[in-house]
Amino acid sequence: MMIRIILPALVMFSLLVNGQNLSKKEKEIVRKVEANHQASIDLLKKSVNINSGTFNIKGVRANGDLLDPEFKKIGFETRWIDMPTEMKRAGHLFAERKGKKGKRLLLIGHLDTVFEPDSPFQSWTFADSVAYGPGANDMKGGNIIMLFALKALYESGVLDDAQIIVALHGDEENGGDPESISRKDIVEAAKRSDFALAFEGSTGFGYGTVARRGSSGWTLKTTGRRAHSSGVFNAGVGSGAIYEAARILNEFHNALQEQYLTYNPGMIVGGSTAEVGPGEGSATGKSNIVAETAVVKGDLRFISEEQKNRTREKMREIVSRHLPQTSAEIIFEDGIPSMPPTPGNYALLEQLSKTSVDMGLGEVKPWDPGKRGAGDIAYVAPYISGLDGMGSMGEGAHSLQEAIDLRTFKDLTARTAVFIYRLTR
Ligand SMILES: [Zn+2]
Repeated sequence: MMIRIILPALVMFSLLVNGQNLSKKEKEIVRKVEANHQASIDLLKKSVNINSGTFNIKGVRANGDLLDPEFKKIGFETRWIDMPTEMKRAGHLFAERKGKKGKRLLLIGHLDTVFEPDSPFQSWTFADSVAYGPGANDMKGGNIIMLFALKALYESGVLDDAQIIVALHGDEENGGDPESISRKDIVEAAKRSDFALAFEGSTGFGYGTVARRGSSGWTLKTTGRRAHSSGVFNAGVGSGAIYEAARILNEFHNALQEQYLTYNPGMIVGGSTAEVGPGEGSATGKSNIVAETAVVKGDLRFISEEQKNRTREKMREIVSRHLPQTSAEIIFEDGIPSMPPTPGNYALLEQLSKTSVDMGLGEVKPWDPGKRGAGDIAYVAPYISGLDGMGSMGEGAHSLQEAIDLRTFKDLTARTAVFIYRLTR
């Protein structure tokens, strides 16, 4: 303060020392975020206190109904997109502003949580700058950061002529089948946007999410010749179904390892008979009988479609080799696609980092692409560049201790607001 009075030439220097290198308009945007901070926490509390477990269709809708008028107030047109009844999902809230200035943005959130009405965890409790609540951090906090960043821009008069689509899914935690319907609208929105920003939980001020691994499943079935165990390895009896399963898993383990790729056999059953259900399996058999069948259920997590397809090809090839008198087949099931770490995503992160540095909030580096699980942004990753992890900071997502850190909430909202401002110039 003293320096500024003594020597005006040092004002700029002083601002940089204070860590702010923002335009007058950007400072106004930050002030609007600050002025609305308490209102943002109040709305977050209301949202958390509405149970919106994915299968609580009324609850997910109620969380959408809470946010809908807030988007309308800041000049967005909103629409509720219903899903077919047999899908048993609430649908999505989309909000849109049409314009031609700067980059066209797609902002992604979700209304549902993993906490259904029978969960013991139902309400917001505040404790020393931290609030506990179902979905507080995943991702009701992120939805509110997005909304209040936009509100600050609206109140600063800089949203006019910006093209922004907000997609709030009602089924992120358990996506409705088929995806061709439940993710149709977000794909359509992506095709007329330039960048996607997803507001899932942040990994801290210093890290941004440029990639998320996708997930998919596989089932391996092997068969062998039932015979007395004393004949195993004979030309006519062969090795049996369990040795064949073991051979295949061992070759998977040794031959497929590469960066960002994991494949885990999560359940195996085998014997004279073997059956698997969604989370259980059963088998019959005896130690003195050569196994006739074995079933293995596993997952496959990957960083790109290319990696997924290449790995599946290698797995099929390993499966097809067969020990004597056995046979095997593997079936793959698609889950959530991946968001690969593209140059476009890194370039966008670079811009976020510049904004962050200009605000005195430090550099933003890419979070390890292998460390982040599947998310909705992956559905639009084939079409546009994007970043995830734009949401709130906290811990214990999906647990009964899920918490949001309210000390960082204002700064994350302000940084998002200035970032969106710069992208939409
Ligand atoms: Zn989430």
